[in-house]
Amino acid sequence: MYWEREIETLPRPKLEALQLARLQQTIRLASRSTYYGTLYRRLNLTADSVTALTDIDKLPFTTKQDLRDSFPYGMLSIGKSEVIRLHSSSGTTGNPTAVFHNQHDIESWANLMARSLYSVGVRSSDVFQNICGYGLFTGGLGFQYGAERLGCLTIPAGAGNSQRQIKLIRDYGTNVVHAIPSYVHRLAEVMEQEGFDPRQSTELRTFIIGAEPHSEEQRLRIEAVFGVKAFNSFGLSEMNGPGVAFECTKQNGLHVWEDAFFVEIIDPSTLEPVADGEIGELVMTTLDRQAMPLLRFRTGDLTRILPGSCPCGRTHIRLDRITGRSDDMFIVKGCNIFPMQIEGVLMRIPDLGSNYLITLETIDGVDELIVEAEIARNVDGTDSQRLAWLTALLTRQIRDETLVTPIVKLLPPDTLPQSEGKAVRVRELRRP
Ligand code: ADP
Ligand code: ZN
Repeated sequence: MYWEREIETLPRPKLEALQLARLQQTIRLASRSTYYGTLYRRLNLTADSVTALTDIDKLPFTTKQDLRDSFPYGMLSIGKSEVIRLHSSSGTTGNPTAVFHNQHDIESWANLMARSLYSVGVRSSDVFQNICGYGLFTGGLGFQYGAERLGCLTIPAGAGNSQRQIKLIRDYGTNVVHAIPSYVHRLAEVMEQEGFDPRQSTELRTFIIGAEPHSEEQRLRIEAVFGVKAFNSFGLSEMNGPGVAFECTKQNGLHVWEDAFFVEIIDPSTLEPVADGEIGELVMTTLDRQAMPLLRFRTGDLTRILPGSCPCGRTHIRLDRITGRSDDMFIVKGCNIFPMQIEGVLMRIPDLGSNYLITLETIDGVDELIVEAEIARNVDGTDSQRLAWLTALLTRQIRDETLVTPIVKLLPPDTLPQSEGKAVRVRELRRP
């Protein structure tokens, strides 16, 4: 049931004592970097300034901008000759950030990945197909090392080329897949076009989906189409990549591996901690990284800590599904909207496909919310009555969810752009 029983089920007081010791060690290490060294000297901060976990609030936050400003080596805490790996973020919100690892970091990350995969039932007898970009993107090598550590037959399939992916799935009897959720739908469509049902003609059992926001409804769709269990995987390259927080088989939130990461949730406007269980910005500190430790890193991601304990027996806290990044939210007609709210509505309507695009545009001087969605393959695109009914239904449900009446446009399947990497869901065409 556990990959590392002792650490995964460590009683809270012991887990917190371990975190404190590791936090102090992390401050010591980080102080060797140009960035933290200069900052902490100026503020007179040392490992001794933190004698309890709550003292972490004495340390300043680290932002993506700080990483960019100290590019490329300003945050390195070890000699360059000890660095063995470079990864970088995908650059979704600006210039990608560089992250370095030494041998210890790669070992520790592989272990966290193995632990995560094991927690959703992946075992050495499984065939694991990793459908995502290799190279600088962390999802490739991150999952590769973890699955290999478990002893899985690991297929580094890479991103895209659905026909080839399907052939691999069939040829080798793949039963576990990791992919980003928007791509999983593409895979389903190509399987449908090729005329076979993944529930009948494959051995697929487990999907691991992550790297981009997705709704519970989207998960349910993926589970139904493939006849699998789909588990949410959260991570960011600044905190290694995947393997930061992972759902267990109970599917009730994502356990953060707290021996490796310290979690805070803050109000992004006041920078103060939110009340227990409230949604706010996730702030993370590495506790077991040597080449490039990061302290109080503002992820920009919005979530909350779930109350209570998990029946799986792991003592590490659970995060709620990530609603999105704080800058994903847009305001139309005075209403604050997250793309995930609209996605949730779309995914609940079986007559609609899984690809969609939200456009914000000024039309005749008025800011409009335009939602384009593809109809499902089995819906007759010439049945104007049905399309009118669907348009009205979608308009009403989006209005109920967001309080804004959208302009809904239904499109035939395969008309919206498909991104190879993370899906782009919102286009901003409003005049300032
Ligand atoms: P970038 O920030 O440029 O996209 P990364 O590739 O490091 O670079 O991606 C990390 C980000 O991806 C996270 O900060 C988060 O916004 C998003 N993300 C990763 N996993 C999930 C997930 N399971 N649910 C929602 N968002 C996720
Ligand atoms: Zn659990």
